[in-house]
Parts: sequence; C-alpha cells; structure tokens
Amino acid sequence: MDNKLNNLILVLNCGSSSIKFAILDPKNEKKYLSGIVECLFLSETYIKWCCLEKKYYKKIGSNMNHEDALNFIIDEVLLKQKNIFNNIIGIGHRVVHGGNEIKKSSLINDYVITCIKKYICFAPLHNPANLIGIQTVIKKYPILSDKNVAVFDTSFYQNMPESSFLYAIPYNFYKKYQIRRYGAHGISHKYVSYKISVILNKKFDSLNLITCHLGNGCSIAAICNGVCVDTSMGLTPLEGLVMGTRSGDIDPAIIFFMYKQLNMSIDEIEMILNKKSGLLGLSGVSSDFRYFEKQYHLTEKAKRSVQVFCHRLSKYIASYMSLMENRLDAVIFTGGIGENVSLIRELVFSKLFLLGFKINSKLNCSTVGGKSGLITESSSHPVFVIATDEELAIAKETIKIINKK
Ligand code: ADP
Repeated sequence: MDNKLNNLILVLNCGSSSIKFAILDPKNEKKYLSGIVECLFLSETYIKWCCLEKKYYKKIGSNMNHEDALNFIIDEVLLKQKNIFNNIIGIGHRVVHGGNEIKKSSLINDYVITCIKKYICFAPLHNPANLIGIQTVIKKYPILSDKNVAVFDTSFYQNMPESSFLYAIPYNFYKKYQIRRYGAHGISHKYVSYKISVILNKKFDSLNLITCHLGNGCSIAAICNGVCVDTSMGLTPLEGLVMGTRSGDIDPAIIFFMYKQLNMSIDEIEMILNKKSGLLGLSGVSSDFRYFEKQYHLTEKAKRSVQVFCHRLSKYIASYMSLMENRLDAVIFTGGIGENVSLIRELVFSKLFLLGFKINSKLNCSTVGGKSGLITESSSHPVFVIATDEELAIAKETIKIINKK
C-alpha cells in the first residue's frame, strides 16, 4: 500500500440504471478503487469493482434501487478498505442538469439541492438518481457533509451562443420556461478537449475541435477557440445522435401520431423514445455495441442499425465543420463505442472523404481497448481517439472547489 495515500476523492456517478464509483487521487491521477453496480431495478443486480489491481464480481440482489445499492457499495466495498477510505477528503457527484442557474461545479448546499430538484423536469432519468447519491452519502457521512461537490454536465455549454441554444419555437417558451438547448456529457467533452490540448501542445482557448462521446448515450460538441458553440443533446439528453436506447433526433410529429392515431399515453411514448429506441429499437435485439460489431456483416438488422447510427453521426460532423472558423485542430472519438469500435470510425469517415478526412486503417484498428492516438493519414484533418475519464475529471473539479473554500 502506498504510504503517501492522502487527499483522496470519492466520485459517484449515479445513472438511471447504474452507479459508477471510484476513489482516486486527483493529483497523481491514481485510481485506488473503482467499480460499477449495474442492472438496478432488474432481476439480477450485480457489482463489479477493482481495488489495487484485483478484480471482484458479485450478484447483490434483485430489483435493487439506488439507495440500497449505494449502501452496499459503501458498507461492503468502500468501508472494507479502511486505509483508502479514511483518506477521503471530499466527494464529487456527477449531476446531469443544472438548468439555467448553476453554471459551474458547486459545493453542495440547500440552494444546489433545490436547483437539482427543480431541473428534474429536464433530466427525468438522471437528476433524481444524482440526488439520491448526494442525499445517501450526506446521511451516511455527516462528517464530510460540507465537502460534497456537484459537477454538472451542463456547465460546459453555458457559453453557447443564442443561435445554437434557441429552438425555433415561440421565444416566450425560452424566456418564461427556460426551454433551450442545454447539452449533456459536458464533463467528458471537456476532459478530452483538455487532453488534446496537451497532446497537440496548444492552448485550450485556441483550439477548434469536434468531440464525439459515443457510449450508451451519444453526443457531439463543436468547440471553437476553447468554447463550446454547439452540441447535439438538447433540453434533455434525448435529442441528437442515435444512442443505445434513445432515439435522438426525430420529427416531433411522430409523437403526435403515436398519441393521436395510436392512442398511446404520453408516458408510454416517453418510455419508447428513451428506453426502446436507438440501436435497441432499430435492431430489436440489443443496445450493446459488441453485438453490432459481431453481427454487422452477418445480419440485416445489425447492419441497418449501424448504418443509421453512422449516417446521423457523419451528418452532424459535417454540419459542425461549418462552425470551425477556417481551421479544425482535431475530431475526437471517445466513450465505450468511440474508443473501441474501429468499424464505426471507418464507416463514418469514409462518408466524409470529400470534407478532407482519410482514416489510416492500421492505426484505426490498433487504437482500441483504452488506447489513445491519431487514426488518420497525414493528409487528413486529424482524428484522435482519446479515452475519457469522467471520474478523474470530477475528482479534479472536486478538489479545486474544496480547496477554494
Ligand atoms: P456509458 O454511457 O454508460 O458510460 P460507455 O461509455 O461505457 O457507456 O459505453 C457503452 C457502450 O460502449 C456500449 O454500447 C458497449 O457495448 C460499448 N463498448 C464498450 N466496450 C466495447 C468494446 N470493447 N467493443 C465494442 N463495444 C464496446
């Protein structure tokens, strides 16, 4: 065990059906413990974690909710590593939506909690889970209650111009109800952007980038002179690219059709667009990209789904080129799909040849499994794969805020 173990941060990322957790040192970037509880509310909830290079896996119950799972994580995993646990000095929570009010990472207090509650309407699958994470930890660790920090996915988008955050609906909906594009995945987009500024040895505020976060949720951001100028996720994380189970962009009239002609309830429609669409809806089989990678050349449904996914993504990249003000420093692919699926990168950039992209097949195929690097020919606009690390990004924000106090 490292004797210099101190100033550690616990990071919690409570999603709609999973909880990711990690204890790490934001300074030397070492992760001492990390894991995930998956399949909350399903018949078999399980936990996987890694501590000091040893890996563990356990089924922990059925139909577990967030609070039960958090109690398990804390009592059965974190507290069993007293040496690590006793050195936690702060807790960072990923929070998806801070609405119009919270523009940066914030120490959690009553006002912050009220805002997270207020914006549940814009992130109905995420903000409630984020709140449970915060409340459970504060209840269990009152001693660290003033050291909890909320790191918002929406912060990264606060300087987007009106022309990209406004919807073309009556302006009053923005003024009165704050209906606008807020974006999500900001923590990841910001992290990979900083990483590329180091790789390219360029100042962050001089960079023009297109960053693609492709995981279960997928989003793309256009960054000009270090400022995010557009992104694909909107009022909620439902808009934009094709995702694992979310539809991304659709004609809003489809909702009227489902409601009026098919007599579906609003709740049913919401569930279909969030949980039964995207890759899962198109294939009828899976939302897991490993399935599509294996089946792409074998089954029509896998091919069809991947083609819709790539069509939408290449269309967005092409349109974001128009926001780059004469220079593109890099396109970045990240997230579970972006980092691992060379097929997607090949298919997407072959559609963008005319715009100056050419993938190097060898580099593309070898840059998988957590590796980062350039995957294009020297004649091409540069495309990089950069492994994201939202936990590390949250830990760095957390220590910054705690130290400011
Ligand atoms: P989340 O949005 O939950 O953080 P991830 O970034 O972990 O998601 O990405 C999950 C997606 O990435 C899933 O579709 C998964 O199948 C895919 N993925 C992860 N690893 C691989 C891999 N080695 N090969 C292919 N797909 C992968």
